[in-house]
Amino acid sequence: MSSDKTGTPPITSTDLIHHGYEPPGGFRSVVPGIFKASTVIFEDTAALRSRQWKDKSGYTYGLHGTPSTFTLEERLSTLEGGTRTLLVPSGLAAIGVVGLSLLRPGDEVLIPDNAYGPNKDFARGELKQWGVEHHFYDSQDAASLEALINERTRLVWLEAAGSVTLEFPDLVRLLAVARRHPGITVALDNTWGAGLAFNAFAIPTPQGPQAVDISIHALTKYPSGGGDVLMGAITTRDPAMHHQLNMTHMRLGLGVGANDVEGILRGLASMPLRYAAQDAAARRIAQWCESRSEFAQVLHPALPGSPGHAHWAATCGAAAGLVSVVFNGERHSAQQVDAFVDALRLFKIGYSWGGPVSLVVPYEIQGMRRHGPFATQRGTLVRFAIGLEQVDDLIADLTQALQALDTPA
Ligand SMILES: *Cc1c(COP(=O)(O)O)cnc(C)c1O
Repeated sequence: MSSDKTGTPPITSTDLIHHGYEPPGGFRSVVPGIFKASTVIFEDTAALRSRQWKDKSGYTYGLHGTPSTFTLEERLSTLEGGTRTLLVPSGLAAIGVVGLSLLRPGDEVLIPDNAYGPNKDFARGELKQWGVEHHFYDSQDAASLEALINERTRLVWLEAAGSVTLEFPDLVRLLAVARRHPGITVALDNTWGAGLAFNAFAIPTPQGPQAVDISIHALTKYPSGGGDVLMGAITTRDPAMHHQLNMTHMRLGLGVGANDVEGILRGLASMPLRYAAQDAAARRIAQWCESRSEFAQVLHPALPGSPGHAHWAATCGAAAGLVSVVFNGERHSAQQVDAFVDALRLFKIGYSWGGPVSLVVPYEIQGMRRHGPFATQRGTLVRFAIGLEQVDDLIADLTQALQALDTPA
């Protein structure tokens, strides 16, 4: 070994990697420590051979869990009212894992016509390709669900409120219909409710609280709250259901990054406050929209005229931060509505919701639905996702942008 001019042996990479210093124990801070790992180190071969990850009693590999992912999973189970949670890289991945885990060739899945679009695309794409059939039911009509159920039906999706059009379904009746068939698993996309508007595992019904089997949550939305993290969660109460999903999750190798876990843990603490603020702001904006003649219809479950309002009132206290407005196609062309959207300054054009910045997306109604009034309606629908700006500023922005509607097409 060579030495420098003082005769001291040089530091080697081994010294740096296997450094003897250990920081004092007992450190505590407001935020739980974030642990990053692919490799987990075992004390000895006995630990390597005996350690279990499936029940979270130990650590074996980063993909199977770290103190950070276990902490987030437990907090989400509490939020959702379930007992076990799996983390996946996006809300859409949560939908995919449920389908891949539960469905076999010859099975059928029933999805609300107004479900999150990519849920329907997954059924039309991969599930169809693997011999799993799908049907879309009218979320506002329990008889339409009942009529589609047969001995091949394995999975029924619920979503409250519906995507973009925000109809609040009759969860009580839909659950009752599905529960008459013991072989059916009921999964809820609970992203809008976020575990705060209602409890997916204790939905109030005249027969007492009723539970879904699985609740999936796009943590990308309210739990993140920043518009900067993609993640999803799958929460259950039944250990056997959790085990089945967990095996699929493991075999697919779906890990989440520790930095993203940190982002969600940070967001979760303020989520109820943000959700309440965005709920209150969205209700004010929805009421203001109702006062404007430019909008043929305002969609928000807490508005008495909005589809499914009575179901919302029977199930929920809170209502998230989404509002959609419908433009009459005979009065306003799609180009005029686009000009209105382009004229908005505080509302930014973009997908997703739950972050600080208000967002807007226009949708053509034609072709969007097979069931309900929107199946035959024409025109443009604009969805607003309310952020955390001052509500008066958002209303002023909407007011000035509405002038663009008068621009000749
Ligand atoms: C956004 C969203 C998803 C998907 O979440 P991603 O993390 O964007 O994949 C699923 N369901 C609903 C209702 C959503 O709003």
